[in-house]
Amino acid sequence: KSGFITIIGRPNVGKSTFLNQVIGQKIAIMSDKPQTTRNKIQGVLTQKDAQFIFIDTPGIHKPKHKLGDFMVNVAEQTLNEVDIVMFMINAVEGYGRGDQYILDRLQNVKKPVMLIINKIDQVHPDELLPIIDLYKDKYDFEEIIPISAKEGNNVSHLLNVLKDKL
Ligand code: GDP
Ligand code: MG
Repeated sequence: KSGFITIIGRPNVGKSTFLNQVIGQKIAIMSDKPQTTRNKIQGVLTQKDAQFIFIDTPGIHKPKHKLGDFMVNVAEQTLNEVDIVMFMINAVEGYGRGDQYILDRLQNVKKPVMLIINKIDQVHPDELLPIIDLYKDKYDFEEIIPISAKEGNNVSHLLNVLKDKL
């Protein structure tokens, strides 16, 4: 089994941290500054029965300038080139306008879209339910999976679910 998985989401939700967590090397550049990832970065995870090719993208956001425009296009193009889309949000900040902008972009995507709620190490478990309910109303996600990319919580479960869908 093998397939391409894109990781999209607004800047700073933890996309590059996730890639580094699963690949185990600092290949994607992580930073507190939004837009550190200027282009697509691929990371390949090979297990005995599956190969995941992850694509870390620049955060999708409403472009304010030419470079921003280019980076948003890079992220949007990948939507049509992959087998699975991971839409990552951040449990700390919850839902925002930036997320709605991305949800609008996902409406025409024919691929399975999984909602990944990251940074659960920073919130109380009770805070997750309202976020899940809100997003369920907005999009028919294939799966909704809370993780901590930084600490690794629930990441192996996510990989198992991804594997089932490859
Ligand atoms: P990206 O812009 O979506 O690629 O986000 P980054 O991976 O660069 O992460 C942005 C910031 O969030 C960095 O300071 C990360 O250390 C932090 N971060 C990412 N994932 C987690 C997480 O699961 N928990 C916590 N506490 N911080 C995280
Ligand atoms: Mg990044």
